Amino acid sequence: MKTPNPLNQPVGILTGIGAQTANRLQKLGLCVIQDLLFHLPLRYEDRTRVYPIGALKPGMTVLVSGKVEFIDVLPRGRKSLICRIGDGTGFINLRFFHFTANQHNALKPGTPLSCFAEVRYGFAGLEMIHPEYKVIADIGDCVTETRLTPVYPLTEGLSQNVIRKAVKQALDLCDQHPELLTDWIPESILKQCRYPALADAIRTLHAPDESVSALALQNGSVPALKRLAFEELLAHYLSLRRSRNKSKAWQAPSFSETADGNTAAAHFIRALPFKLTHAQQRVIAEIEADCRQQHPMMRLVQGDVGSGKTVVSAYAALLALTAGYQVAVMAPTELLAEQHMRNFSLWFESFQTQVAYLTGQLKGNARKDVLQALENGQAGIIIGTHALFQDSVNFHRLGLVIIDEQHRFGVHQRLALREKGRQGGVKPHQLVMTATPIPRTLAMLHYSDLDISIIDELPPGRKPIVTSVIPAERRADVIDRINAWVDKKKQVYWVCTLIEESEVLQCEAAEKTAEMLTQALPNVRVALLHGRMKSAEKDAVMQAFKNHRLDLLVATTVIEVGVDVPNAGLMIIENPERLGLSQLHQLRGRVGRGSDDSYCLLMYQAPLSDTARHRLGVLRDSNDGFVIAEKDLELRGPGEVMGTRQTGQMHFKIADLARDADVLAAVQQLGDSFFASSPEAVQPLCDRWLGASTEYSEV
Ligand code: ADP
Ligand code: MG
Repeated sequence: MKTPNPLNQPVGILTGIGAQTANRLQKLGLCVIQDLLFHLPLRYEDRTRVYPIGALKPGMTVLVSGKVEFIDVLPRGRKSLICRIGDGTGFINLRFFHFTANQHNALKPGTPLSCFAEVRYGFAGLEMIHPEYKVIADIGDCVTETRLTPVYPLTEGLSQNVIRKAVKQALDLCDQHPELLTDWIPESILKQCRYPALADAIRTLHAPDESVSALALQNGSVPALKRLAFEELLAHYLSLRRSRNKSKAWQAPSFSETADGNTAAAHFIRALPFKLTHAQQRVIAEIEADCRQQHPMMRLVQGDVGSGKTVVSAYAALLALTAGYQVAVMAPTELLAEQHMRNFSLWFESFQTQVAYLTGQLKGNARKDVLQALENGQAGIIIGTHALFQDSVNFHRLGLVIIDEQHRFGVHQRLALREKGRQGGVKPHQLVMTATPIPRTLAMLHYSDLDISIIDELPPGRKPIVTSVIPAERRADVIDRINAWVDKKKQVYWVCTLIEESEVLQCEAAEKTAEMLTQALPNVRVALLHGRMKSAEKDAVMQAFKNHRLDLLVATTVIEVGVDVPNAGLMIIENPERLGLSQLHQLRGRVGRGSDDSYCLLMYQAPLSDTARHRLGVLRDSNDGFVIAEKDLELRGPGEVMGTRQTGQMHFKIADLARDADVLAAVQQLGDSFFASSPEAVQPLCDRWLGASTEYSEV
C-alpha cells in the first residue's frame, strides 16, 4: 500500500484550526488539506499601493492614508460618527454607525490613519463606511502588502484571516513537498494551451505576485484559472466518456430482426396519419441499428419542438415489443405523460399488449394492478413520471427506457432508471429526447456518454411562428385580437409567468388573469390550467381544449413541454422577460403545430432593460432553437440553457461555462486522445474533481 498523502489529512491538523473551525470549513466542502488548495478566492483586494484621496472614485476598494481633519457625532437620522481625513490631494469622510467612546477619543484631529474600504457617495462627498483602519506614525508610514489579498467564500462564523492562514499552510506544504500534488496534465498540453503547471497555477491564484495582472484575475482570464477550469472540465468529460466506453462493453437485449417484427413495423408506419419526414426516418434507422446490437443503446434525440420526436420513440418501443421486451416511457410532467399515454395507446391499439400508466397520483388498487401487470409482463409499455423510479416498481423484462424532455432530469436519474431495468449483466437500451437544443459545447460536456441524433426538419406545411414584442399597455388591443381570432373558430393560449419560483403565486396570478379575461371576453369560452390542479381536472381541461369545447386556455408554464393542439395558433406570453429564451421558444412551440399561420405575442412589462430587449428581439427574429440556445448561452449563461435550476445538472467548482468557452473547445479537442496518451491520469482526475459524484460513472 502507498503511504497516505499528507494533503489528504483532515484540515483539523493545521495550526489554528480547532474542531469548531474544522466543522465550519466542512460546510464549505473543505475537509482535507488539498481541498483548501482548490478553494479559490472570490476576488482580490489591492493593498499593494496607497491611493491619493483626490483620485478616488465611488466603487473603488482601496487603501488610503490621511490625517484626521475633523470628527463629530451626527445625531441626525441614524446616529453616526463622522471622521474626515485628508492627505493634501483631497478629503474623504469615514462613517461609523457603531463606535465606542475610546474609538472617538483616539481619532483626534491631526492623527495619521491608514484606511481600507470601498469608496461611496455620501451626504457630503465621498465616504467610506466602517473602514478597516489603523493609527499610524505618519501618513507616509502606511504599510502596503506585496501581493493582492485574496478574499475567500466564507460561511457563518469563519473569518478571512482563519481561511487565509489555513490556505497558506497548505501552500507551504506543497512547496516543501512538490511531489504531493501530482500534475496529471502532460507537458505537451500545457505547452500547447500555454497553461502553467498545477502548483504554479494554484499559487498564482491564492497569492498572486506583481507579474499577475489584477484585471486578468478579476475577470477570470488569467492562465492559472483557465488551466484549473480546463482540468475540471476535462475530468467531467473523461468521466462521462469512460462511462460510455464501459457501457459499450455491457450486454443488452438485441432486438433482432424477425419476419413478424418487420410486418408489425410496416403496419405501424402505414397506420400513421402522416408520412414520416426524412429526418425522422434517418433517426429511426440510427435507433434501429443501435437496438440490433448486443450492447445497450445510449442515444439522445434532439429536435426542435414539434419536430415529431414522439413517434420516433414509439417506433423504438415497437422494436422492443416485437422482440418480447417491455418499454418504460418517462416524462417530466403528468400532463405530458398523459399525452404520451393517449398517443401510445392509439398507436399500439392493435398490439396484444397493455399500455399502463403510473404517476405519483395513482393510489390503492389501481396502483397495485399496474405494478402487477408490469411485474408479470401483461403490460408491455409503461408510461409515467418520476414515479417509475420507485422501489415498488419491478419490471418483468425491461428492454428499453425512453426519457422525454431529458433536460428536466439529471444524469443520475437517467442512469438510475436504467439500473432498475438491469437483469444480471444485461441492461436495457436507452433513448432520451430533448427539445432544448443544446449548444455544441454544452452537449459535449453533458451528453458525452451518449450518441446524438438530430431531427433537423419539421413536418411539412409548418409555417414559422410570427412573433411580436409588445408592451403590456396594449392589453386592450390584444383582447380585441383574441376576439377576432376566436370568431374565426380558432383557439388561443394565454401564458402567465412569474419571477417567483413559487407555484402557488403562479397559480394565483393565472386565476386572476382568467377572471379578467372571462369578463373582458364574454363570448369566449375561457378555462384555466395550472400545476396545482388535480391531474383529472387538468386532463379534463386539456381534453376540452383539444376537442375545441374551449377557446382560450389561461395557463402557467406547465404547458411548456409537449402539449399538442394544432388548432391553437395564437399565444400570448405575459412577462416573457422573466423566462429564458429556450424556455420561451419551447412555450411558443405549442402554436405553429398546424398548417395555418400562427402568432406569438410577447407582452412585456415596461420598462425593459437593454439585455431584455435584445433577448426578446432574438426570439422575434429567429425560429431556430439552436440559434436561440446559443444566444441564451451568451446572454444568460449555461445554467439557464440547461435548466439547471430544475435539475441540478452539473456543478463546477471553478469552471464557468460562459466565461470558459475557450477552455471547453480545448477539452473537446484534446479529451479523446487523453484516454490513449494518459490512461493512468483518468481515475485520479475524476477523483480530484468529481469526488463523491463519480459514482455515476461506475454504474
Ligand atoms: P415533439 O418533437 O415536440 O415531441 P411531437 O412528437 O409532439 O413533437 O409531434 C408534434 C405533432 O406533429 C404531433 O401532432 C405529431 O402527431 C405530428 N407529427 C409528427 N410527425 C409528423 C410528420 N412526419 N408529419 C406530420 N405530422 C407529424
Ligand atoms: Mg415532445
